Formats: sequence, structure tokens, C-alpha cells
Amino acid sequence: MSIASIALPRILRIGGGASRQLPDVLATLGLSRPLIVTDAFLVGQGRVETLRDSLKAAGIASRVFDGTVPDPTLASIEAGLAFLREGDHDCVVGFGGGSPLDSAKAIAMLARHGGAMADYKAPHVQDEPGLPVIAIPTTAGTGSEATRVTVITDETTDEKMMCPGLAYLPVAALVDYELTFTKPRRLTADTGIDSLTHAIEAYVSKRASPFTDGMALLAMRAIAPNLRRACDDPDDREAREALMLGATQAGIAFTNASVALVHGMSRPIGAHFHVPHGLSNAMLLPTVTAWSAPAALARYAECARAMGVADAREGDQGAVARLLEELGALNRDLGVPGPAAWGIDAVHWQRLIPTMCEQAIASGSPANNPRVPDAVEMAELYARVWDA
Ligand code: NAD
Repeated sequence: MSIASIALPRILRIGGGASRQLPDVLATLGLSRPLIVTDAFLVGQGRVETLRDSLKAAGIASRVFDGTVPDPTLASIEAGLAFLREGDHDCVVGFGGGSPLDSAKAIAMLARHGGAMADYKAPHVQDEPGLPVIAIPTTAGTGSEATRVTVITDETTDEKMMCPGLAYLPVAALVDYELTFTKPRRLTADTGIDSLTHAIEAYVSKRASPFTDGMALLAMRAIAPNLRRACDDPDDREAREALMLGATQAGIAFTNASVALVHGMSRPIGAHFHVPHGLSNAMLLPTVTAWSAPAALARYAECARAMGVADAREGDQGAVARLLEELGALNRDLGVPGPAAWGIDAVHWQRLIPTMCEQAIASGSPANNPRVPDAVEMAELYARVWDA
């Protein structure tokens, strides 16, 4: 029997208002000098001030770095690290979507180990910890609050670098769906499909285990019936709560099983064409699932059942057909554009396909897919996604 190697945050607080427990969680961990890493939008919303006020009330002084950017870059990480070094901090609190959380992880690691982020990209694995990270997600998407990876873009080469290792696993995550009511429809859709993709890919991954299967199926059950609901009614508490829980469960699933072909092919699209992460996943998900499904029919069928789109009595072939219909319908209902409709130039796309294939394969994620494409097949998939 093979051994599943599972890693989780030491503390998870989950539920409405969980973010208000930050002072208590810091005290539990013996930490008292936090740097809050976030973005300017969330500061503008007054969210960060509320967080700082709760810290102040507990006698904890904090500083705020709000210079993170969507898809964090080497320069933004350097700026954050320089800011941290101007103060005296014993931990980093990431507050925001995947971009601030990944920035917090990278800054906290470099604070202790130095060097440049490019030194830490895969295949390097950074297990030795940096400063402790406490993650407070606000997008219900990436699951970064529970993952042992940070994704940093090298803006000089447009490469989205996967940097893996236990150093990036937050010691605590405060998962508070009340932070997500302000998400606009597009962000709700993109981040929701991101987490659904994590769950599906973790479930079909060659590295899946019974533990990650359980988390992935729970995530699909939580996300699938609630995604359209939250997009149609941003104040739907039940839907928001389910999406936030599902995103964290999906994060736990994929970080302990791995993502696969969709994510492998998605990162280069994000890096070269600046398509938001969830959106590039959504562009790929139906086409890549259709191509991969014959290699793991029973697994994809189970995804359809967990998502509630296939009946328990329906055979695998039929259930997979339902899954493919649903992924197409979801993209239509949530207004997911294809690459052309999103504004990508056809010639530019065509020219970058070989580079994107090379970067996708180098990331290692496609090798975990139930059906592994060679570079020629992957190029065909990129072409098919353009036409889809
Ligand atoms: P994001 O963090 O880039 O944020 C997108 C936008 O949403 C920003 O403008 C932000 O200010 C805004 N926003 C955040 N919370 C909001 C709220 N509650 N209401 C309104 N607006 C809000 O988006 P994301 O999709 O969460 O993160 C994407 C990044 O995460 C990518 O860089 C991707 O590579 C990375 N990622 C990391 C992991 C991991 O495990 N480390 C996994 C998947 C993706």
C-alpha cells in the first residue's frame, strides 16, 4: 500500500467572522510582531484597518505592505522584502486573494533564507521554514491558505514560477466567507471555477489518495451547486459560505495530490497574456477534460456525480457526458470568454504555443494528468482551446 504524505496548516479557523480571531491565533502561536501583506484595493476598502484595529485592541502593533500586484512579480516581492526588513517582524499575515497570500509566503521565506525567488523555483523544494505565515483569504478561489506552494512571475521572462515546499504552508488560516460579499460577478465566477478545477484535478491526479479524494469530493459538492447562485446574488450567504469552504477543501486536496494538465497549461496563458488565473483555467477546463476523460472515465464520472449533474445510477460514460455538458454550460452561464474574445491576438497566441508547451511541461503538473500529452498533443490542445 502506498503512503499518502499529507501536510496541513496547524490551525484552521473556518466560518463567518473567523478573521476577527487573528489576535487570538497570534497569541496561541506566540507571535506578536506581524507584517500584514495585502493589496491597495483591500486597504482602500477599509478592510485592513479593521484588522489592524482588532490587533491594536489586543496590544499588537502591525505594519502594512500593500504593494502586492495580481500575479506577484519578482519586483513586487523584492519591494515587500525591503519593507519587512525596515521593521522588526516575527510573522507575516497574508490578507487578500491568491496574489497577496503568495506574496506573503515568498516574503516570509526570503526574510529568513535570502537569495532571489528564481533560486527557489521547481524542481527546488524549500521545506525549511521561513517566518510563520498566517493566511486570511478574501477570494474563495486559490486555496493558497492551505497549500505548500507559491507562484511568482518572473517578469523578465514572463514565466510563472512554481515554488514548492513546506516553507510556503501557512501555519494558520482564517477562512471567513464574510470577506467575500464584495466580490464582483466576474471575480466570483473566475475564482469559483479556479477552485472547482483544483478539486477536479486533485481527484483525477495520478497522485490522488483516499484522503485527498475525500477533500476533493467535498469541495465539488460545495462549489458546483453554489457557483451560479453566488454570481446571480452576491449577498447569498449560504452560497458564499459553501464557496469559501469548498475553496479551502480544494486547496487541501490539490496541495496533497497535485494539480494536473489544466493548471500546467493555464499558468503560461496567465503569464504571457495576463489573463486572470481562474479565467485561464476556465478557458481550458472543458477542452482538457474532454481530452483526458477516456483515460480515467470512472474518476471523471464520480466528479459529475459529486457536482450533482449525473444520477448515481447513470453509467460512467453517460456521467462523463453530463460532466462535459455542465462544464460547457458553466462557462456560457458565467460569461467565460475564449482567448480571442478576451482580446488575445491570434498570431501572438500561435507564435507562443511552443513556448507555452515547454513551460507547461517543465512545471511538472501535466505529468500528473491521467492522460499525459507530448508537446505535439499539447500544441493541438492549445489550438483547440483557441477554436472552442
Ligand atoms: P488576486 O489575489 O490576484 O485578486 C484579484 C483581484 O481581486 C484584485 O484586484 C483584488 O484586490 C481583488 N479582490 C480580492 N478580494 C476581494 C474581495 N473580497 N472583494 C472584491 N475584490 C477583491 O486573485 P486570486 O484569483 O485570488 O489569486 C490569483 C493568484 O493566485 C495568481 O497569481 C495565481 O497564480 C495564484 N494561485 C496560487 C495558488 C497557491 O496554491 N499558492 C493556487 C492557485 C492560484
